[in-house]
Amino acid sequence: MITKIIDTSDIESAAKCLKNGGTVVFPTETVYGLGADAFNPDAIEKIYIAKGRPSDNPLIVHISDISDVSFLARSITPNAKILMEIFWPGPLTLIFKKKDNVPDKVTAGLDTVAVRYPSNETARKLIKQSGVLVAAPSANLSGSPSPTICEDVVSDLNGRVDYIIDGTGCEIGLESTVVDVSGNETVILRPGGITLEMIKEYIPNAKLDGGLIDEKTIPKCPGLKYKHYSPKAELIVVQGERENVRKYISSKLNKSRKAGVLSYGEAEYENAELIINAGNNMEEYAHNLFSALRTFDKKGITLIYAEFNIEDGMGVAVRNRLYKAANHNIIEV
Ligand code: AMP
Ligand code: MG
Repeated sequence: MITKIIDTSDIESAAKCLKNGGTVVFPTETVYGLGADAFNPDAIEKIYIAKGRPSDNPLIVHISDISDVSFLARSITPNAKILMEIFWPGPLTLIFKKKDNVPDKVTAGLDTVAVRYPSNETARKLIKQSGVLVAAPSANLSGSPSPTICEDVVSDLNGRVDYIIDGTGCEIGLESTVVDVSGNETVILRPGGITLEMIKEYIPNAKLDGGLIDEKTIPKCPGLKYKHYSPKAELIVVQGERENVRKYISSKLNKSRKAGVLSYGEAEYENAELIINAGNNMEEYAHNLFSALRTFDKKGITLIYAEFNIEDGMGVAVRNRLYKAANHNIIEV
């Protein structure tokens, strides 16, 4: 398959491709998405094949107008209504009870459907012009870090999809917050750019899914049980006060292993092959995390130490992705 890599001035041909059952990668405010017509099971199948994604991991359906929810959701609970009004369009995915005609391939057989109304202009234009609703997981090979720059999409999916739109976006850098509003409770299944604190301002009894708090509870979000976001290099998270973290990492580094450090703020390490600064706060860390992990791989680094400290807000989403990427290889200092 020949993949056409286009810029945002050529959205029309990509939109036509979506309408005709093809696959299109497009930027969003979270990460790049790999889209296909949500109501065309053959098109959906192409997503799973292109990514090598397990078929029991459902997809998020992207819409370009708030009223499109009515094609997908059987009912909209009062809490869902509040979150839609406040946070849409944006990096928030809501789980609704699904209508019968939503294909099982999209929902992996669940009786619920995940819906997002993205704010990225290219994403919205593409969906609107295609005239279809667009099921789209992150545009990476299954298991790899989600792509936040076009170069990383191309390295994973060139030759596996019809179109890649090289656009701007991915300001958040982590996938959307997934919130189950299908019942009476409001439960965050996957942390992201819209934080628990932000949601609690409007729905005070909103909470995190047990699987996000306690390692032994199976997460309700099917995607979270898989190996995820992993660089090829071994990744070790070193967590605690900055001074202790840096002392520990320095003591471990030696020239015999091509090691890199993902630092939290500007740092110097004598024996590191490569240091990438993830930023000075958790918003910056989120934005930089996935592309940094991919950069370490591109530079041939085989061991990465990531400086980290536990924080609320965006820190919850960063922690979720970082721990998974490290396969729970965490050192407290
Ligand atoms: P991705 O777009 O690749 O980040 O993956 C979408 C995420 O949303 C995965 O973790 C899915 O398991 C999750 N998801 C999609 N549909 C549902 C649903 N109906 N209920 C719970 N989680 C869902
Ligand atoms: Mg993904």
